[in-house]
Amino acid sequence: MLTIDGSFGEGGGQILRTSLALSAITGTPVRIEQIRAKRPKPGLQRQHLVAVQAAARVCNGQLEGAALGSREITLHPQQPVAGDYRFAIGSAGSASLVLQTVLPVLLRADGPSRVEISGGTHNPLAPPFEFLRDAFLPRLAEIGAQVELRLVRHGFYPAGGGTIIAQIQPLAQAKSLDLRERGRFVSRRAEAWVANLPIAIAEREMRTVQSKLRWSADDCHARVVESCDGPGNVVIVTVAHQRVTEVTSAFGAVRVPAEDVARRAAQEMRRWLEAEAPVGEHLADQLLLPLAIAAGGAFRTVRPSEHLTTNAAVIARFLGERVTLRELCPDDWLVGVAPDPG
Ligand code: ATP
Repeated sequence: MLTIDGSFGEGGGQILRTSLALSAITGTPVRIEQIRAKRPKPGLQRQHLVAVQAAARVCNGQLEGAALGSREITLHPQQPVAGDYRFAIGSAGSASLVLQTVLPVLLRADGPSRVEISGGTHNPLAPPFEFLRDAFLPRLAEIGAQVELRLVRHGFYPAGGGTIIAQIQPLAQAKSLDLRERGRFVSRRAEAWVANLPIAIAEREMRTVQSKLRWSADDCHARVVESCDGPGNVVIVTVAHQRVTEVTSAFGAVRVPAEDVARRAAQEMRRWLEAEAPVGEHLADQLLLPLAIAAGGAFRTVRPSEHLTTNAAVIARFLGERVTLRELCPDDWLVGVAPDPG
């Protein structure tokens, strides 16, 4: 039984998700203590509880302590099992982060799986659907992981009610990832989505992105979500290069001017455009685990976040030291992930 201290490093939900996935993949029983100890409301929130239950389902595991608010859980896994799964968060908790938990496990399962997750599809502080589709999954495809993701219905905080469906093929011929260069520029696009809110908000956001990034009106689109449980607004900015696509986002909120929302997404994209490393902060932490359970790889990224270093530390607990970080210059780091010897 491995014991993981949930309060180390980033001290939030990431340690939990990475530990659960690795426990399920390796068949190692795990006890996770002090769950989300560094958060104002520690313990399992709905999204985390569903992630815990989902992790147990996809490996036929036994759980102890899985309840709302719980600060300690134990998972006794068996092995990854392919299947047709449905997980309902029942709030606007992030469906992407539940997928982040079960996806690596099902890549190592005995056949194809279908996973339907309902909850929030567009949440602050989590990968929005477009990030998964355009930034994350194409890189997974390069390492041999075939995953199709569909947005059935948008779900924004606080109403939720969104659904995503993933079709996951088990990893057959794993290939190592080499992502040290961006390749040439291919395309760019900004979209502002509004649900049950005036389109004028999205139009103001797109004008702001145009002026902040000096993009043309043809690059920027104001769009309406046709059917959604509550109000919502997100700005998504996408730049595709030959080898990598970056997606930045920002969410509308009550009393936050549309221009401020758009400026945040644009500024984050501008930072990526000005940096040289191909892999942005969020993609970097999300790539580590898939690489570590496959054929490894190397990528250049911006200064490592606490999510990345925490993930590397959790991976080391389960699989041994596998991740190396080398500073090339302050905003350009080389991350190496050794392949899974199994
Ligand atoms: P907490 O326990 O801190 O409340 P949580 O479980 O909801 O948090 P985190 O542990 O913070 O979530 O993990 C967030 C994950 O979402 C990370 O993998 C991070 O890279 C990703 N993420 C956050 N913001 C974005 C974004 N704008 N675009 C893409 N991915 C994002």
